[in-house]
Amino acid sequence: MNTPDRDMSLQVPGQVKQRYSSLCSDDELLDDDDSTLWQDEVLRNSQGSVYLPNSGRLPSAIKEDSSQLTAVIKMGWLDKNPPQGALYYQRRWVKLDVDYLRYFDSDKEIYSKGTISTAFITNVSSVGELKFEVATNNRTFIFRAESEAERNDWVTVLQDCTRGRHRHSTMNPGSPLTPDYQGYLELKGLRSKLYTVVALDKVYLYKNIEDYRIGVGITSIEMNVGNVKDTDRRSFDLTTPYRIFSFIAESEQLKEQWVNAMRNAIGEALSNSEVAERIWAEPSNSLCADCGAPKPEWAAINLCVVVCKRCAGEHRGLGPSISKVRSLKMDRKVWTEELIQVFLLLGNERVNSFWAANVPPSEALTPSSCTEERRRFITNKYRQGKYRKYHPLYGNQRELDNALCINVQCSDVLETLSLIFCGADVNCSTGMPNWPSPLSLATAHSQPLQAELISHNLNTELPRSVVDMAMDTVPYAPPPCVSYNGFLFKTASMARAITERKTREEFSRRWCTLNDGTFSYYESDKNSNPNGALKASEIVCLAVDTPERHGYENTFELYSESERLYLFGTDDGDSHKEWVKSLAKSFIPASAEPLLRLGFERIGRLKCKDGLNLQTSKVGWFALVGSTLHAYLNDSKGEEIHLRKLNELSIQQDNEVLVLVEKGRTLYIEGERKLDFAGWCAAIQTAAGSGGDTLSQQQLTETDIPVIVHSCIGYITQCGLTSEGIYRKSGVNSRVAALCERFRQDARSVRLREGEHQVDDVSNTLKRFFRELEEGLFTSEDARTWLSTAAIQDESKKISQYQMLLNRLPRVNKATLQALINHLYCVQRFSELNQMNLHNLAIVFGPTLFQTDGKDYTAGRAIEDLIQHYTLIFEVDEQQLKKQLEEITVIIQVREKLNTKFPSTEPGGHFICTVYLEEKKETAEQHVKIPGSMTAAELTCEVLDRRNIAVKDREYWSCWEVSDKEEMERPLHYQERVLPILHSFGTDSHLLIKKHLAMEAMIVYLTSKVDVSKHGMMKFREERSILGLGLTSGSFHDRYFILNSSSLRMYKEVRSNRPERDWPVKNLRVYLGIKKKLRPPTCWGLTVVYESKKQERPEKQQWYLCCDTQSEMREWYATFLSIQYDGNVWPQDGLQQTRVSRVLPDTRHGNVSLIPLRGSENEMRNSVAAFSQDPLALFRDVR
Ligand SMILES: [Zn+2]
Repeated sequence: MNTPDRDMSLQVPGQVKQRYSSLCSDDELLDDDDSTLWQDEVLRNSQGSVYLPNSGRLPSAIKEDSSQLTAVIKMGWLDKNPPQGALYYQRRWVKLDVDYLRYFDSDKEIYSKGTISTAFITNVSSVGELKFEVATNNRTFIFRAESEAERNDWVTVLQDCTRGRHRHSTMNPGSPLTPDYQGYLELKGLRSKLYTVVALDKVYLYKNIEDYRIGVGITSIEMNVGNVKDTDRRSFDLTTPYRIFSFIAESEQLKEQWVNAMRNAIGEALSNSEVAERIWAEPSNSLCADCGAPKPEWAAINLCVVVCKRCAGEHRGLGPSISKVRSLKMDRKVWTEELIQVFLLLGNERVNSFWAANVPPSEALTPSSCTEERRRFITNKYRQGKYRKYHPLYGNQRELDNALCINVQCSDVLETLSLIFCGADVNCSTGMPNWPSPLSLATAHSQPLQAELISHNLNTELPRSVVDMAMDTVPYAPPPCVSYNGFLFKTASMARAITERKTREEFSRRWCTLNDGTFSYYESDKNSNPNGALKASEIVCLAVDTPERHGYENTFELYSESERLYLFGTDDGDSHKEWVKSLAKSFIPASAEPLLRLGFERIGRLKCKDGLNLQTSKVGWFALVGSTLHAYLNDSKGEEIHLRKLNELSIQQDNEVLVLVEKGRTLYIEGERKLDFAGWCAAIQTAAGSGGDTLSQQQLTETDIPVIVHSCIGYITQCGLTSEGIYRKSGVNSRVAALCERFRQDARSVRLREGEHQVDDVSNTLKRFFRELEEGLFTSEDARTWLSTAAIQDESKKISQYQMLLNRLPRVNKATLQALINHLYCVQRFSELNQMNLHNLAIVFGPTLFQTDGKDYTAGRAIEDLIQHYTLIFEVDEQQLKKQLEEITVIIQVREKLNTKFPSTEPGGHFICTVYLEEKKETAEQHVKIPGSMTAAELTCEVLDRRNIAVKDREYWSCWEVSDKEEMERPLHYQERVLPILHSFGTDSHLLIKKHLAMEAMIVYLTSKVDVSKHGMMKFREERSILGLGLTSGSFHDRYFILNSSSLRMYKEVRSNRPERDWPVKNLRVYLGIKKKLRPPTCWGLTVVYESKKQERPEKQQWYLCCDTQSEMREWYATFLSIQYDGNVWPQDGLQQTRVSRVLPDTRHGNVSLIPLRGSENEMRNSVAAFSQDPLALFRDVR
């Protein structure tokens, strides 16, 4: 098995097979991924074909051979689902181009392990955690990405490039759909023959003809680097710089045909690449003129642009009268020397100076743009001529024609292009009898390149954006040409945010001009060369500072696309205003023009996605004004996001995405560039905080109630309705003050929790809020009228007066008053429990809400009226109210039951935890109350019981601690207490009940051992904390380990005497799996956490061990387990015993927090409903 043995090529076939089958079973060979086709070892051993040294690969420099660089749309590492029967995902380097999704063993490989023709992909969709599915008619491939963003990106690009591919298979002449030669061929070293297809300049290998028909192949071989050589009667070699393929045909005659076909393919490939290589010699032609993708193989010969395959598809869609699309590789006949010269002379860059002179950054394509974006852009660019540079003679037909006739006599081909596409008529009359047309004129004046260009445009339809005003698309209006000049004071530009105050000394006086889309600054108004300039299209954000933030009275910041920040200032307020206005006008597109009319603090563009379309992000234009974010996300109308009313505002994914959750939708703003994004985040967060002490300046709920009011009412409803003297008893002053302050800072982030917050503190926080509210709940104008209304004798008159006043309240005040009175109404309905009847509540709330001293009862009377006549004044739906009261009754009952059974003796107590069964998904969720004494086995039984799952013999159901990315997991030992685990792990982990499939093997292993210890080599890597930042360094190294009953020792090598490290086993916590980020060398890894329990020096370390095989890993794991639990790894009588003997939970941990105290009203209602629907869930622990 070790060295290639040339003599083995003399083996009889039987031996080959035998050896082969000992290496992998038939199944494996048939399964796409276990085809060991590309493992050199196997090939060498089985056949001893001639291989290039080592791995048979050449150094990477040669790999960059252009032929291998078909425009890759996306590539990266993914896990691919294992073939049937295997358990583990396989790490694959995956590349997507227009024609194929290919996966490789590594990013160094030339030949793939598998290819899926995009023309055969029927569906691509996200499934489960980080996974996505690629379906063909009869096979589905599952891949797993490393992050959600990555996954979504794959799905997006795949969906985009497979959409509608079926219909366009003619666009795909390089695909094996049009083979030149095909059939089964034996590849030496493989047991099964491969279905081999020679098509154009490539050879494709498939496992069999069925796979060929469904577009699922093994690999393809580019023949431009190939060489075919006869070796024997029936065999021949296809040699490439990377590998030699030794084929055996079925007969001598067939071999001849194969060799011929492959040689033809080589000829094809060599002549094919000739034109492309020549065209690409002009550097700008090696990038697509439309999207910038590398190595574009297509061209629009009349428009003179070289484009990639995807863009070529859209060009085709315009029709040949607009764009004549030809392949650089396949349409050899069209590529005359003249045409090639035209393309070399012009080049994408120069041609784009005409076609793409005015492309707004928001509309520009990138290589990853989706089909829709491409279509729009290419239509705009060539059909509409939206971005072209207008010729000065535009609109003057006679002059244009005249200019064309003159110009074709000289060599300026670009001018001719510009004239033609600005309306000059190529068929116009020159007025010269000998040379009646521009074409003949050009030829006569020996301008073959001019003639070539004209000849391809004799029937071209002209761009019609302005010519044809009736078109459905609005012609592009470039931003109004803004110009403004003046002196400003400027600091040096920066690559970071400005946090400090800049003094006057740090600014220098500069003459600034805004002209023709460029903002420039000069040493003085006498200088003609600017010190610096910024194109308006490069400005991504403009922020206006609050006055006197820096040494100059008024300052503003400009953020550039290239992540620079420019600070300008002036003492002249008017000039400042004018500059801000002009600069904003210069870079905000017409579609978002209304933003310019706002008194914004910050304006600019950001990439974003919203809930309706998570697949693709788009450019949005934003302006921040006070607590409102104005946005233009599509071409559609603008919208407003009220930041104080957001349900959630957070920065996620390592500060790269700002998530704004508002009623009905979520907006994800992406940090395309760090600098301006950070500025936006900070500004939006500040704007979303409470802005002052009046009601409407608070952070609000969807229903316009201040978050603080909503939270306090919710909490009291959950926990305080039975509390005697609620709202009358005072809380602890310092705690109330602290809570008020926290709400003031960011009410949205405050989570009131039982055990953590006392009922009376919360009730007093609410009261204090209303008492200190600027202008009061009833507004300063109307408060007196409200009070006087209480004196009206006639009941119905009084009520209609209240109603009138209610309707006069501002929206927020009205909503808040209604919510509060509703709450107080409920409180007094349970007055037999809390002793707070109508009158008592009115005494407390009258002076609080009216902010009076409480010397008389007027205010109290008004509140009493409002509560008493609550349903009338507020026109309440009685059914709704009844339901609400029933819900509250359930809450109270549930709490009572639990409180009598588990008297609260200590704070904190146990809590409800979400546990999943078998898989982390919503339907597998169970909410389980975890008493302090609950063991993993008890929790497991609890969940299985609820789901009515019987435990069979030799089924090892366990409770697992699983990290969110499912990269690491640990089965809890059955006796392990769950509560401390819950406390110790972060939000990125969860508990999962599932079978421990390796348990049996581990038990068998352990029983076979006389003493429990183990030694052997493992690969080791340490998590070294750099400056306490938790950054990791280092890599995996081989080490020798000895694990015995007391410690785990690590030695540099087997013969080392002294251990490098020595850890006490009982303090180790061992997880299966290693974070992928660390690039473990094998997939059999363990993550070990060491926690020293030393009081004086608590310490946490983490490191990683990698084994070579799964069974090795199991053995190590079993040994750890056995040592840690003294051989007791599984209950003797199985889990069933635990089930039967399970007793009441320990009552020492009382004070139940029954319903999660968070989330919206609806969430709370739902959880109450869940409890009332499943009464068993409540009483299970009590029986
Ligand atoms: Zn392109």
